[in-house]
Amino acid sequence: MTDLKDRVIFVTGAASGIGAATAAACRAAGAIVAGADRAEVAGVDLALKLDVSDEASVNAAVAQVVAAYGRIDGLANCAGISVQGPVTMMRMEDWDRALSVNLTGTMLCARAAIPEMMKAGKGSVVNISSVYGLTGGPGNTPYNVSKAGVAQLTKCMAADYGAAGIRVNSVCPGYIKTPMVDMLAGQIEQNFINMHLLRRAGEPEEVASVIRFLLSDEASYVTGANIPVDGGFVSAHLIPMPQ
Ligand code: NAD
Repeated sequence: MTDLKDRVIFVTGAASGIGAATAAACRAAGAIVAGADRAEVAGVDLALKLDVSDEASVNAAVAQVVAAYGRIDGLANCAGISVQGPVTMMRMEDWDRALSVNLTGTMLCARAAIPEMMKAGKGSVVNISSVYGLTGGPGNTPYNVSKAGVAQLTKCMAADYGAAGIRVNSVCPGYIKTPMVDMLAGQIEQNFINMHLLRRAGEPEEVASVIRFLLSDEASYVTGANIPVDGGFVSAHLIPMPQ
């Protein structure tokens, strides 16, 4: 089991899905977990309310973690929203919302936490991009563009802070069974599942275990990587065959 004993880990989006699973996985590995969300967070050492798209809210949450524990060793940026629409059909506010929560929110949390890590000369930031941050896809342009931005932000921050001992990576999940994807059902869900080489949806815990690894010293030589956790979605395009 990955060792995070006494590491202070700040997890956003900790009320649900991948963030909640990440908080639980880090605690199981011995970490002290501060979990933050716009919704109520349970099952962590320090529960905080925050809106990741609001700079003052992010700075206040990070300050509370530092006031409570004196440092931040790791940040898991799990807060995010799903926003649909091709560009001719989406509302401008949908585009703005996707970018402000998924991309700006990820940047703001890193911007607030990294100076705390720099004081220690060491730290790990894990962002959540998506398979649709690595490849194009129909119907979700604001979301997909925000996630491509997260993948690029990951590489840029890794470049800027590597010399300071701070690693920055992202995970790029495929289809993971969380409340975010509740609206997918029936044949559409099955078609999507069939695009994954493993022919099944992933569980939030299967993403959390990779995030936990990236937060730990076991990943000490991994930085600037956008790592698919996707049942093989991006590695091959399956051709539907007649049965
Ligand atoms: P989820 O809806 O279960 O969890 C998202 C959490 O983020 C919620 O608790 C929500 O309250 C919180 N949140 C949303 N906006 C926020 C804000 N402005 N400030 C603070 N908290 C906010 O969804 P999930 O599937 O666990 O998603 C986690 C991350 O994984 C997201 O970034 C999502 O885009 C990404 N992701 C999910 C999938 C999937 O198939 N579920 C695939 C690829 C990437």
